Amino acid sequence: MANFFDTKIDFLKGVGVQKAALLNLELRIFTYGDLIQYYPFRHEDRSKITPICDISEDSVSVQIKGQLMSWGMLGEGRSTRLSAQFTDGTGTIELVWFQGAKWVQKNLKLNTTFLVYGKPTMFRDQFNIAHPEMEIFTETTENKGLQPVYNTTEKLKRSFLDSKAIAKIQATLMPLAYPQLQETLPDGLIQQFKFIDKKSAVKQIHFPASERELAQAMARLKFEELFFIQLKLLSQKTLHKKQFQGFIFRQIPTLNHFYKHHLPFALTNAQKRVVREIYEDVCTGKQMNRLLQGDVGSGKTMVAFLCMLMALDNDTQACLMAPTEILAEQHYRGLKEYCDLIDIPIAKLTGSTKPKERAILHEALKEGTLKIIIGTHALLEDTVQFKLLGLCVVDEQHRFGVAQRAKLWKKNTEVPPHVLVMTATPIPRTLAMTLYGDLDISVIDELPAGRKPIQTIHSFDKDRLRVLGFMKKQIEAGRQVYVVYPLIEESEKSDLKDLQDGYNSITRYFPEYAVSILHGRMKPKDKDFEMMRFVNNETKIMVATTVIEVGVNVPNASVMVIENAERFGLSQLHQLRGRVGRGAEQSYCILMSTFKLSKESKVRLETMVRTNNGFEIADVDLKLRGPGDMSGTQQSGVLDLLLADLSQDAEILKHAREAAKLILETDPNLELEANKNIRQHIASLKKTSLNWSRIS
Ligand code: ADP
Ligand code: MG
Repeated sequence: MANFFDTKIDFLKGVGVQKAALLNLELRIFTYGDLIQYYPFRHEDRSKITPICDISEDSVSVQIKGQLMSWGMLGEGRSTRLSAQFTDGTGTIELVWFQGAKWVQKNLKLNTTFLVYGKPTMFRDQFNIAHPEMEIFTETTENKGLQPVYNTTEKLKRSFLDSKAIAKIQATLMPLAYPQLQETLPDGLIQQFKFIDKKSAVKQIHFPASERELAQAMARLKFEELFFIQLKLLSQKTLHKKQFQGFIFRQIPTLNHFYKHHLPFALTNAQKRVVREIYEDVCTGKQMNRLLQGDVGSGKTMVAFLCMLMALDNDTQACLMAPTEILAEQHYRGLKEYCDLIDIPIAKLTGSTKPKERAILHEALKEGTLKIIIGTHALLEDTVQFKLLGLCVVDEQHRFGVAQRAKLWKKNTEVPPHVLVMTATPIPRTLAMTLYGDLDISVIDELPAGRKPIQTIHSFDKDRLRVLGFMKKQIEAGRQVYVVYPLIEESEKSDLKDLQDGYNSITRYFPEYAVSILHGRMKPKDKDFEMMRFVNNETKIMVATTVIEVGVNVPNASVMVIENAERFGLSQLHQLRGRVGRGAEQSYCILMSTFKLSKESKVRLETMVRTNNGFEIADVDLKLRGPGDMSGTQQSGVLDLLLADLSQDAEILKHAREAAKLILETDPNLELEANKNIRQHIASLKKTSLNWSRIS
């Protein structure tokens, strides 16, 4: 039997072939199933009538009831408009139309009661409503309750498919669809969370009779949405563990030797805990897929190195992949120091490695004489082959896609290497659970002892002389300084000019010091050269774009000046700030901005000044921008949620994940009678909707 929800919308009453084609094209609504899942994004409360005298600056959209007193055309040229005075006895308000005046005017009547709906705005000391919705008041128009509002497009509106029209189509479909809707959750969960049933939920999300009904529908449907995603992720994880064998790294003599005799500092408790978690994981015989989260400067590199030693100790090789050449170079330099202490061969492979050298590296990797390789994307190339790759460390995960991660695994034919993914940008828990729900997660939630928290100051452009004076003092005290300019697109000429101007004025102000400049358009060789001059303390000031954002480590740098700080996102600001505060000295971050700041920019800068905690900053970022715009989430279809909002619904997510986990623990293949609804729903998702393929 054909599934009701697969029925094409074309022949639904009020749709028709032409409108159906438009709905296909514009909203990707093809079937009844797609349509019924096209939920309103908000509701308008039409149950209340607001007296005109109660309208205030804070009013959102209001519904008023009254009569027209007069109307006529005002203004000339482009500001020509139809203006009407409207009263309900408590006050008057102006209604205006800038377009379609002729048509509107025909429908205006005296001595007739109208219902008017729209958003009042203040203009020249009087409230007005532009392009209000209007209809003649009758008994049936009264008390329409909560009206659904659907997203639509200009093109649809021109073809008379505005929100109201879509609501009408939904109202036509609802009585047909209602009896066909199947329960998707097990009874146990419905009772536990006191959810309403699926039928009611779908009906109430489109046409709630009250705020309460809407809330019930939202609670149930959001849970359901998150529950099925978590179920999917968690079962993938279980399946993965079942399917993929992993190397067992039990022997760790070199690691122990290094730890006892060469460790340059005592590990923090968090680092120790994480190393233990990883060690346990690589002893299970299953492939490790682990995300290592830790704030900037929390010491992820040392953890990664110790894990590499685990791999080496068990006759396999290790690689570390970084997103940029600069970062690969830094890692290489840092790790080489450790490797030299214990005679371990290590090399670097990037896009700019010469063919001759490359050939030698390829050979050594294949032979197994080279144990550790640090590199960029160049490592992914098929020509790079290992004798036996035991561990892949991927730094700054968010720059790599999932497909690239998988490419690394395929370096071995039989047992895949263990994978440790490190993120520098902390991700709020809710997001991590969804984005990386199929990975195990370790968190370093502690900074090495003795670090002085970075002091962050917000300065305005007029304070520039003071800031320059401060930089001078710091340099005289032996420190180095970063000055960073925004460069959203490396191709933006004006940004590059800002950078150049900044560089010029700094060299003018500090004639006695050598100054470096670094931006993405420079050749890799020149970049490295400038970076090294700064690392070696030959240059005192580094004027750069955000290319230095990721991971660069110069402990002697103690001041980070960020120009046009209002143009940066929060996580980027936090990353940049993380470039200082890496040594023993007190460090400073100075956020320069103009006076005119948007509300959001203000929140961002205030947050930076208030806290150094990356996780707290990530939370604010999530609230400000929503999950889709957070760095690292772009390629992830997981976040195209219909209803749930990861910045708001952390609690629901937690419950959904726990519920999914519990169910999979007792019934991994969803075979029990109690889980019949789940099983059927997944089967229907796989068959029909876009959703399941989107998250699979
Ligand atoms: P991130 O987590 O941002 O990658 P790094 O691994 O680059 O941080 O570490 C930042 C700095 O802190 C490095 O200079 C590193 O040598 C140092 N470091 C790491 N762990 C410790 C520790 N336990 N005690 C003192 N310094 C540490
Ligand atoms: Mg790092």
